[in-house]
Amino acid sequence: MPKWGFHKLPEHGPNPESRLYRVEGCACAEVKDGYRYVLGFDVLAGGLAELGYETLRERTPWLDLVRCTRCGQHWYVATDTVDDDVYMRRVTLAEAIDIVESAKWPSHFDSMKHVGMEEFGGPE
Ligand SMILES: [Zn+2]
Repeated sequence: MPKWGFHKLPEHGPNPESRLYRVEGCACAEVKDGYRYVLGFDVLAGGLAELGYETLRERTPWLDLVRCTRCGQHWYVATDTVDDDVYMRRVTLAEAIDIVESAKWPSHFDSMKHVGMEEFGGPE
C-alpha cells in the first residue's frame, strides 16, 4: 500500500500533493539530483509539462531534456517504465546546449534499464 493512502487524484492537471507542485514558482530549488519521484502521483499522465517543465529534446520516449518555464533550470529526466519512477538530474546551460545542438547526453542514465536505451539509445 502506498504510504500516502487513498488520496483522490485530480482528473485534470497536476496533483497538488506532488512534491514537484507549487502554486507559484517551482520546486526546482528543492529537487535533489537523483531523487526518485513517483509516476502516477508526483507526475501524472500529463507529464512534467503539467508542472511547468517544457521538453526541449527527447533521447528516447523516456529520457528527456526539459526546462523549467518558471526558473529556467534545465533537467535531464528519466522515467523508469517498469518501476514507474521519475528521476531528475540538473544539467548546466552548457550541457543543455550540447544536448540540443549535438545530441551529447550526460552519462547519468546510460546504464539504466527500462528507459528505452536498449531500443532507442544503444551504443553507436
Ligand atoms: Zn524551476
